Amino acid sequence: MLTPEWLNRILPDDHRLNAPADRSVGDLPAEEFLRLAHETAEWMAEYLASVGERAVFPNTDPGDIRRRLPASAPELGEAMDDVLADFREVIVPGLNHWNHPAFFGYFSVSASGPGVLGEMLAAVLNVNAMTWRSSPAATELEDVVTDWLRQIMGLPEDFEGVINDTASSSTMYALAAARELRYPEAHQGGLFGCPPGRVYASDQAHSSVEKGVMALGFGRDGFRAIGSDSEFRMDVEALRAAMRADVDAGVRPIAVVATAGTTSTASLDPIHEIGQVAREFGAWLHVDAAYGGPAAIVPEFRPLLRGWEQADSIVVNPHKWLFTPIDCSVLYCRRPAELVRAFSIVPEYLTAPDEGVTRNLMDYGVSLGRRFRSLKLWFVLRYFGRQGLIDRLREHVRLATDFAGWVRAAPHWEVVAPVHLGTVVYRFVPELGNGESADAANHRILERVNASGDAFLTHTRVGGRIALRLAIGNVKTSRAHVEGAWSALRAAAEAEVHPASGA
Ligand SMILES: *Cc1c(COP(=O)(O)O)cnc(C)c1O
Repeated sequence: MLTPEWLNRILPDDHRLNAPADRSVGDLPAEEFLRLAHETAEWMAEYLASVGERAVFPNTDPGDIRRRLPASAPELGEAMDDVLADFREVIVPGLNHWNHPAFFGYFSVSASGPGVLGEMLAAVLNVNAMTWRSSPAATELEDVVTDWLRQIMGLPEDFEGVINDTASSSTMYALAAARELRYPEAHQGGLFGCPPGRVYASDQAHSSVEKGVMALGFGRDGFRAIGSDSEFRMDVEALRAAMRADVDAGVRPIAVVATAGTTSTASLDPIHEIGQVAREFGAWLHVDAAYGGPAAIVPEFRPLLRGWEQADSIVVNPHKWLFTPIDCSVLYCRRPAELVRAFSIVPEYLTAPDEGVTRNLMDYGVSLGRRFRSLKLWFVLRYFGRQGLIDRLREHVRLATDFAGWVRAAPHWEVVAPVHLGTVVYRFVPELGNGESADAANHRILERVNASGDAFLTHTRVGGRIALRLAIGNVKTSRAHVEGAWSALRAAAEAEVHPASGA
């Protein structure tokens, strides 16, 4: 068989496959890196400029991509040109394009130009911001950019920011800090023998809250979902009643998590009122503003978050609605001592003379190694500026409001949740049939739109029934993209009503 190994045994040295003499050790040579980096930069610019012309969701079935890739890593190194060709021809056509301006699924995100440049440079530097000494500038830039973001969102000075990978981690860390506050005895001995504790969030809260509770040793019973009202906001009186009943039964309230921008309908809990109840019971108030937090940058939207400034901790994800490439989640904490108590263990090899003078970011969470995430957020905040962010966020909400208006005005369509941010939840209501056949119709509409490649949407369940979501958040999304999604939805619904004439 003509394997490369076999050929290399008979070929003269300077003709060996994939193994030029100067590549036997060491990295990709500098000149080759430069050539490939130029080509890659051109590909990147072209992708960003034209991604809107691609189908958002690929024409691919589960397993297709995997079948096209070898089952094992190559024995001998391959040419980077071949690797990049496979990236373009095998990987990219199999992607759901999150950076597409007609990507309206989940929560729409953007890797903006400045954010991508920051991500590239962070990869080149490859610094690890565990301690100040391991990365002085990365540590200090994280202080600076989290403080900049705090200021433009109007939060008080005593909130200290730290950047994590995701909101799921940030929320778990906040709950760990709450545990330090509410179970000081558990710091040494663990929770064994302690009275049971409970964390409260609405039945619309993100699953990461419950996951954090499980991971922290409070068990499934440590989480209590509180009912929500007709606009999907936590029922504050139900919260108070549940906490009172728990206290009477010897259960210790640990924390209340209020959500600003729920995952299903983007509703916002009454944070101010929830905060009052949390304080009555001495519980920690954490605000999950992973999606909705950036709204506070826009003056007329800030009142939606009223009361969040009184929280003990807040999570905001710039990788969601703030044009920063994934991953970048900021945890703000105004009781950093509790957070550090939950996570600080300093082994000898990491002790340094600077200890106590500066922050060591490894003390604020589970991870020791930390990517230089502040760089991309710094680029984003500087390039757009506060005003540029306001303009873009405001435009997204305007587009969402307009879309909701079109849906409301159309026969057989309804908007099922109030629109405050850039997300609309709506559904097709067929004239005949029961709830289940309406659910099936909405599923089919969703599949038709996604198969068209013109837009990508996702669904949720509201009041027991299937509803569709349109989340606007990509920096390149324009009115034309939103109009395109609406005509794709109308065409798909038309095919429901008149299957024969349907697309
Ligand atoms: C997206 C989201 C999360 C989870 O965010 P990750 O960063 O993916 O962990 C949590 N809460 C809310 C409200 C969200 O919208």
